[in-house]
Amino acid sequence: MAGELIYFLPTLDPAHSISGRQTVELKGYSHIAPGVEYRIRNRSTRFSTKYDRSDGRLVTLIKTLHDGFTMTRGFYIGRFQPYHNGHHNVIDTIAEEVDELVLGIGSAGDSHSRHDPFTAGERIMMITKSLVDYDLVTYAVPIEDLDRNSVWVSHVQSMSPDFDIAYSNNPLVIRLFEEAGVEVRQSPMFNRDVLEGTEVRDRMVDGGDWQRLVPDPVVEVIEESDGIDRIQQVSDSDSNGI
Ligand code: ATP
Ligand code: MG
Repeated sequence: MAGELIYFLPTLDPAHSISGRQTVELKGYSHIAPGVEYRIRNRSTRFSTKYDRSDGRLVTLIKTLHDGFTMTRGFYIGRFQPYHNGHHNVIDTIAEEVDELVLGIGSAGDSHSRHDPFTAGERIMMITKSLVDYDLVTYAVPIEDLDRNSVWVSHVQSMSPDFDIAYSNNPLVIRLFEEAGVEVRQSPMFNRDVLEGTEVRDRMVDGGDWQRLVPDPVVEVIEESDGIDRIQQVSDSDSNGI
């Protein structure tokens, strides 16, 4: 389907701002308001994927539905082993910025180990139940590991609904998305000394208070799947300790 793209790309010197209209393949592009910053991410037209303003900042073209409503879809990937309050706070901030969010369930094929105790399905349950009251359309997409960082972003994109912005606080993930020309945003770190998967799993193994670090529905999912017994058992060793 074709649609009309009306664009205005501000520069510091208004006389040299670019504006115009053109017919584009409509995967969904917005009417752009003058003076608002947009990033061009229109792969199907002659625009390049990045447009550097004279002040070095980028402009953004927000993707829209063809009925004229602006719609932005974000992407946030994690292993979510388990989904904890740090992740939940990140999604809280992302929800302010996007209408839809794709949640990439990383290392989807891994489970039943101390590092990755829960299956992709169990992690999807944790997330879905924790976000049930959110005014946010979410899609959980399991992403299996690919042992080749240079093509990892293509791998992710091949499994995911199209997205406009990738959210991550992980340096490698940020680097890979940036090299692929995808806009990346970071959120603040929330109480990172305890809100970290490794800390939650350590507490599960050691019998500590992990419940306080995760949303309530996650406690239920973990109980339903006998998760504490599982992580404690798979963390045991069969060596004689010598
Ligand atoms: P692990 O110790 O297992 O790596 P993790 O807490 O880092 O657990 P991930 O699933 O690896 O969890 O994290 C997914 C994303 O969420 C990463 O970008 C990570 O930086 C971010 N994240 C995790 N915890 C927090 C937090 N407390 N505040 C902000 N971002 C966080
Ligand atoms: Mg991590």
